[in-house]
Amino acid sequence: MSSPTFSSTITRLTLNAPGSTCSSELSANPWDTPSGYGPGASQGDQAPANFPRQQKLPQQYLSASEEELDARIRAAKETLGDDVVLLGHFYQRDEVVKYADFVGDSFQLANAALTRDEAKYIVFCGVHFMAETADVLSRDDQAVILPNLSAGCSMADMADAPSVQQCWDELMELYRDEEDDGRAAVIPVTYMNSSAALKAFVGRNGGLVCTSSNAKTVLEWAFERGRRVLFFPDQHLGRNTAKAMGIPLEQMPLWTPRRELGGNDADTLNAAKVILWHGFCSVHKRFTTAQIDKARAEHENLRVIVHPECPMEVVDAADESGSTDYIFKAIAGATEPTTFAIGTEINMVNRLAEQYPQHTIFCLDPVICPCSTMYRIHPGYLAWVLEELVAGRIVNRIEVPQAEQADAKTALERMLAARP
Ligand code: SF4
Repeated sequence: MSSPTFSSTITRLTLNAPGSTCSSELSANPWDTPSGYGPGASQGDQAPANFPRQQKLPQQYLSASEEELDARIRAAKETLGDDVVLLGHFYQRDEVVKYADFVGDSFQLANAALTRDEAKYIVFCGVHFMAETADVLSRDDQAVILPNLSAGCSMADMADAPSVQQCWDELMELYRDEEDDGRAAVIPVTYMNSSAALKAFVGRNGGLVCTSSNAKTVLEWAFERGRRVLFFPDQHLGRNTAKAMGIPLEQMPLWTPRRELGGNDADTLNAAKVILWHGFCSVHKRFTTAQIDKARAEHENLRVIVHPECPMEVVDAADESGSTDYIFKAIAGATEPTTFAIGTEINMVNRLAEQYPQHTIFCLDPVICPCSTMYRIHPGYLAWVLEELVAGRIVNRIEVPQAEQADAKTALERMLAARP
């Protein structure tokens, strides 16, 4: 992956227009360390009790002006030179993405970091599970740093390791006496947006990881080796992918954690092809068919593209669905001026609109509502972690326990080896 194509066109969320954002708190206090996800799309989600808390920043960063932080980030990056590589997720705010050496989705970024052999420090301006993936894939002598520890992911948190283990134990018990046809009763598949503990879990149990780009290939791989798939944490990606493969909805029961058999009866689970975990992304859950109808009524020859984390009805009503990379390439590849209505996170859509002025590009959701946790990476945190590195101190290092590293890597390698 080359240098970011996005970072030359910087826009900011206009957070001061009353009523235009999903939360009036978005611009209020970037230093607050909430016990939950903070303002933004995930603010209504239940954060786990062990939600990571960021230590308070030293006062000098809290009181620094935008210009001062900008100068300090640039100076620290310059001093660190090739020792540091800075990664910015597509959904990251522009005030941070502009410093990134690479911009992309989580897996692209983890791989992009590997191309910087000389980098001792990988600063991941994304969320917790992304930094974990980078740690699994990077060398032991490279330190992965997340500028704000409270940048988690509400979807990833919806599948915690003990609940998934309990689900697995119940399924193994249920399918224990099934006739052996040479395949496993269930293959576990976890979306990239999950903790390293769950990637290790699927690695240990014959399963693999998927991204929103390769979910179909991964499910095909799984069905060659198993009678069913347990898919977590995102029910929508699982349902949309399996439906496109021709699997009927009645063979895709929803597993609700902490309920016996996930709230299903044994017959339903026996007939199941894909068991969907009850997880979702609160950013993509905001998109509706009504928004698509309205956009079509207001724009002729509209091209509607949504992310497969959106609910099934929304994906069905759109012209196309695909990963962030798919959306980016679809717009980059359009040769004629086109009107695009996009169903994904607002920072990415705004940046695409800036970068491709020959097209009309807008977000289907008229309300500005960024990913709550990605939004917690403020330039002040970035300045702090970089200046600490200059001073020879590593703060906010994300380290996946050795016991999980190997199994998580196995699950990622199986994904890379899976072929259509
Ligand atoms: S956009 Fe959704 S899936 Fe992505 S980090 Fe935010 S909450 Fe998680």
